[in-house]
Amino acid sequence: MNQDLELLIALQETDQQLAECQTRTRQFATERARLETEFQAQIAAYTTAQNDLDAARRRLRDLELELAHFQAQVAKYTADLQRVRNQREYETAIREIDTAKKAVAQCESKITETRADITRLEAEVAARAPDIEKRRTEVDAALAANARDEAAYLAEVETIRQRRREMESKLSKVWLTNYTRVAKLRGGQAMAQVVNGACSACRMRLRPQVHSLVRQGIGIHTCDSCGRILFYRPETSTLPPLEKAAAATADT
Ligand SMILES: [Zn+2]
Repeated sequence: MNQDLELLIALQETDQQLAECQTRTRQFATERARLETEFQAQIAAYTTAQNDLDAARRRLRDLELELAHFQAQVAKYTADLQRVRNQREYETAIREIDTAKKAVAQCESKITETRADITRLEAEVAARAPDIEKRRTEVDAALAANARDEAAYLAEVETIRQRRREMESKLSKVWLTNYTRVAKLRGGQAMAQVVNGACSACRMRLRPQVHSLVRQGIGIHTCDSCGRILFYRPETSTLPPLEKAAAATADT
């Protein structure tokens, strides 16, 4: 068979492989996102408890500041009480002490509640933490394995790309250009096998003379209808396995 035609068939096989590689390459990232999302869902209860705990701790700090403020007010108005000059000032001081004391009592009650919340949430976080750590370790291991697999896979893909570059360099310019143009037009499928005297891609019957030449492997012919480059395999009605096509190019 024409050497360029063998190379073109091998090129098509390689391009199919590379197209499948693109899908596979995307799957690594998809898998990593899935692992992370699953982990986030599994730790949702823990995350909620941890967030609630942080909020409760912030609330306690605010309440303690408020308490100090109202306690200072009680002290101030109590001191004022010693210096009143008439009944009106006395009543005002008593009323303000009363108000401040109520605020102190409210703050103290809220602080007690918040401290109880914190104790409860700390216990919940502590109870869930070992599980989370174990799960995180598992997820990290799965992510690392994924990254290793991806690196190994990408190295394989690079080998295929390298092989493609070698094929390109051996192929005559005119057929490489032709292949590239048709592949672009035909969704990456520039080659079509001839089966039962017809182009297997578009089903157009070949002219008898063209059919004969294609069968004998004389010259390179394209389909009149779809423009694909035609080839014939006597022993099979499907594309040959890549190893074979690659082997055909290896000894040229
Ligand atoms: Zn065709």
